[in-house]
Amino acid sequence: MRTESASHKVRPDQADIVIVGNGALGLFLADELVERRAGSVVVVGPGNRDAGASAAAGAMLGCFGETTTESLRTDASRTRFELGVRAHDRWPEVTARLEEYSTTGSPLLVTPESHVVLNSIGATLDTVNYEAMIKALDEYGKPWAEIDPNEIPGYRPRLDTRALKAVHLPNEGAVDARGVLAALENRLAQTDTVLVDQTVAKLVRNNGQIIGVELDDGHFIEAGTVVVATGARSEALVKTALDDFDTVPMFPGLGFAMLARRTGGEKFRSVVRTPNRGFACGLHVVPGPGDLEYYGATNRLVDTVSSVTWMADVRFLAQYSMQQLDERVASHEVVKWLAGNRPVTLDGFPLIGWLPLSGLYLLTGTYRDGFHCAPLLAEHVANELQGKPGTIDPMFQPTRKPIETRTIEWSIDEYVEHNLAGWFETGAQAAPQMTTNQIADYYRNMAIKFYETMNIDYALGPDILWYAQGSLLGARRVARYFQRLARAEAQPVGA
Ligand SMILES: Cc1cc2nc3c(=O)[nH]c(=O)nc-3n(C[C@H](O)[C@H](O)[C@H](O)COP(=O)(O)OP(=O)(O)OC[C@H]3O[C@@H](n4cnc5c(N)ncnc54)[C@H](O)[C@@H]3O)c2cc1C
Repeated sequence: MRTESASHKVRPDQADIVIVGNGALGLFLADELVERRAGSVVVVGPGNRDAGASAAAGAMLGCFGETTTESLRTDASRTRFELGVRAHDRWPEVTARLEEYSTTGSPLLVTPESHVVLNSIGATLDTVNYEAMIKALDEYGKPWAEIDPNEIPGYRPRLDTRALKAVHLPNEGAVDARGVLAALENRLAQTDTVLVDQTVAKLVRNNGQIIGVELDDGHFIEAGTVVVATGARSEALVKTALDDFDTVPMFPGLGFAMLARRTGGEKFRSVVRTPNRGFACGLHVVPGPGDLEYYGATNRLVDTVSSVTWMADVRFLAQYSMQQLDERVASHEVVKWLAGNRPVTLDGFPLIGWLPLSGLYLLTGTYRDGFHCAPLLAEHVANELQGKPGTIDPMFQPTRKPIETRTIEWSIDEYVEHNLAGWFETGAQAAPQMTTNQIADYYRNMAIKFYETMNIDYALGPDILWYAQGSLLGARRVARYFQRLARAEAQPVGA
């Protein structure tokens, strides 16, 4: 184990590349650039990673376990899905390389495998996503096996929410997110890279190009290239230098998870999770590090980034972990509450590429699997920064218009399905004579009314629709963005 040896480093005035943001994307990029000896690198970000996603992540190396009916339905979603497939292959090498720098005393790869359980507490969304996962596994020739849920180590749900089906994914595990971040920092500290424990107040431009960043105390770091990787805060930071530029809007996907110590019963030895469901990544437990277990995760799109946790989310996670994963969870000792904001874009796709200001690069929008994709994206971005061809599809460029993957009718159907899944999982009550179709109609009418009021013809994903439907601020942001887009398109070329 190597230890930090560079705490004496002084805060620099200059760097070839300043990476703003010390989450998984920023740190993996710094690591890649250092490997390539790509010049002097400074990473700016608060040591406590306030409200960041990476430090709250379960860090499932989830790819097929994340499959939904949407994953392979369009060319664009397939391209996105295959990012995950390619990212997956990197991790054995990544963990082997970082292990030497780990300070946790337990392996960074907390488990190499997952079990995906199909229980009936959600709604049909679980079933169709479970089937989509098996279809995708077969299509990509990946190993899986159906397993009796009773044979999953640690899995002891309440009988009325037990799974009748489960799949074992021998090659999809999870890493210790906080351990990986610490190991990356430790590794970088052995190099000339400087990690600045501060925030960037604004990007500084001059004559149509970026010239550096100004820190929260006014200190200026001059830079040839600035990479913005500040997660859910990226759009706001970009606006400090490009206030007239409209990238695809971003929203914080506030998530809550818990790290807890088991006090009895059989331990989990693999990730155990439901399929993606009800606007979120499914309920899951990740074993480790050490004798801890990670329970996650909620997802709630909100107006502003914060590190608070909703009481409703605490109830949700505690109650459903007990019901759906292991009854013994009730006596677990929670040692850490984790809250972070996923960087969610309006179209659900990442924002990766050069911005229309020379020297300014954006790396964000990775939503639910940014930890998993970080090493692969680091390689791509490092190439682009060095003027070499990128290694991923250019469709994620931040100068794009929102990617279209559905019709309005499809969007409404998806919204209904996700709400029904949420309705049943949360045990919502309707009058006893009310049918599921009537509940579905209630949500359908809500979505129809939303589209009529908004007067947009872009079809939103279910999570964005849920958010904009319930937030006046969110609805206005979405509506104004499309109005600006329409005005820009109506302008004659060259105007
Ligand atoms: C509860 C939860 C569970 C998740 N589970 C998984 C999972 O199992 N697998 C997976 O692959 N992904 C998961 N994700 C998603 C994943 O965490 C994100 O996609 C990814 O970590 C985003 O990384 P990032 O570096 O872009 O952003 P972040 O991790 O948010 O990092 C951004 C950093 O920038 C800093 N910052 C912000 N503003 C400034 C500023 N002005 N100046 C300097 N620094 C600034 C922040 O403090 C933060 O440290 C999960 C996310 C959450 C919230």
